Amino acid sequence: MILGMTKIYKFQDDISTNALQELEKHPSLAIDTEGTGLDITKRDKLSLIQISTGNNDAYICQPNRKNYKAPNIVKILENNEITKIGHYLRYDVSGLEYFLKCNIKNIFDTKIASKLCRTYTQNHGLKDLVLEFCGKKLDKRLGSSDWNKDLEKLSDGQLQYCSNDVVYLHKIKDELNKMLIRENRIELYENCIQFLKTRIKLDQNGFTEDIFQH
Ligand code: MN
Repeated sequence: MILGMTKIYKFQDDISTNALQELEKHPSLAIDTEGTGLDITKRDKLSLIQISTGNNDAYICQPNRKNYKAPNIVKILENNEITKIGHYLRYDVSGLEYFLKCNIKNIFDTKIASKLCRTYTQNHGLKDLVLEFCGKKLDKRLGSSDWNKDLEKLSDGQLQYCSNDVVYLHKIKDELNKMLIRENRIELYENCIQFLKTRIKLDQNGFTEDIFQH
């Protein structure tokens, strides 16, 4: 289906083999997830996985909430040749690795990158980056909605909303990467990304505070 300008493909349980083959052609894919809440892995569950190639498309998959078996999605996540671009991956990587039982490789986090190079602002939300780099105003009102209902019951507004969370990430990544290079912060950025999996393990073990804080 087409919503706005975005081509939307919906999948139950896992993406199809055809979709996998199409996605594997791309060196980088944008990724986002929706859950039943923000306390992912402890109280809340993974409800939706969205992927975009950066060409105004969104592959929206509702995993099987009984067994969370999605081998095709796991192939993408574990493929070291494909960069997975996400905003605040501390949430998405935690949920994806916990529920799909996988080890995600090669990630780019636009929120960490933004905090390291856009020091002229305190605003590092996706909405702020989409406005600055894509000139578009994102409507975030449906962010807090019931993502766990049946895939076919999701409204057009919900589908458009969860697609918008992935369609702009390629452009944002390109711009932030240029800024990180300009500000000489690429190495610092890469070191932060290396620590991300440890940060997630701390979260999952209940150490949610800043472990380095006095
Ligand atoms: Mn989202």
